[in-house]
Amino acid sequence: MDAIDYQRAADLSSALRANAQSGSAVIGGGTNLLDLMKGGVARPVRLIDITHIAGLDQVSTLPGGGLRIGATVRNSDLANHPLVRDRYPLLSQALLSGASAQLRNMATVGGNLMQRTRCHYFYDSVYAECNKRRPGSGCAAQQGFTRMHAIFGADARLDANAPVATAQAPLAGTQASGTLPVSQCIAVNPSDMNVALAALDATIRVTGPRGERVIAMSDFHRLPGTTPERDNNLDPGELITSIDLPVSAFSAHAHYLKIRDRASYAFALVSVAVALDMNGTTVRDARIALGGVAHKPWRALEAERMLVGHPLDPLALEQAAASIVRTAQPYPGNAFKVKLVQRGVVRAVRQAAEGASA
Ligand code: SF4
Repeated sequence: MDAIDYQRAADLSSALRANAQSGSAVIGGGTNLLDLMKGGVARPVRLIDITHIAGLDQVSTLPGGGLRIGATVRNSDLANHPLVRDRYPLLSQALLSGASAQLRNMATVGGNLMQRTRCHYFYDSVYAECNKRRPGSGCAAQQGFTRMHAIFGADARLDANAPVATAQAPLAGTQASGTLPVSQCIAVNPSDMNVALAALDATIRVTGPRGERVIAMSDFHRLPGTTPERDNNLDPGELITSIDLPVSAFSAHAHYLKIRDRASYAFALVSVAVALDMNGTTVRDARIALGGVAHKPWRALEAERMLVGHPLDPLALEQAAASIVRTAQPYPGNAFKVKLVQRGVVRAVRQAAEGASA
């Protein structure tokens, strides 16, 4: 058994000092970190508990509107917060679709952002090949079960948000080609909350040895590239202090659709976060983000552009949904996600247009 030093930080300064020491890990609710430690995937020598730092557990309004959510706010508290239910129902829906009530009561929003993939090869150290756990060792998933794995972004050249003309992708809606993509990691980000935050253009405030900075949600998580061991763009010693949400025009028309193997408690095969700003039947603005399909929450920017300024008719919606999978790189075990994404987007957009309920 490894000895672990536990330190309860009284304030941010002491948390940062402790976090600067080698082998430190920040702990909030511990609902992911403790699992990783039990499995020997994470081996910190020091845990810095930040849940007792005053102010980090608060939700507050920002000048000019918007919302600041402290890093240690519990998932259940945020999902049920009146301002979130009223102004950001997409976020409330996504949070309530994640994990179990017990886990939501314990888990913090900062921890949710930092949540690691649920690729079972990553968690089971019996498998020697895992580039995320042991860089350079290979990827067991690519010769194994890929049902829960990525269809986008494993090869950074195939960015679905790149202009179609420059993408080197398989045809939309096709099954996996005979030549499988070569990637260092095809794991997905498992969070529901993160998908909603991507759609809502959240920003992440962090603090560290070099002071404070703000990271756009779209830049917070990373594609695997050649460094799959890194999930996000936090620098060493940095920790999350809050999530900021801009003023939203999407409170009336939002929907989070989570498609999973088991309704009670499971990670998403595919999830779709949709937020619309409607002027009658015309889409004034649109946000679409996907979960369960990439190493980071996957914004469907081209599909959003195709919807904006037009009435929401069935053909336009089908075409927008088809545009999303143009750069999909499925494996035989997850090729079903290509159609699932298209159908999920169509359904979620329709439901958002009908009206949000949190
Ligand atoms: Fe490891 Fe990523 Fe491959 Fe899973 S998909 S085995 S996390 S390298």
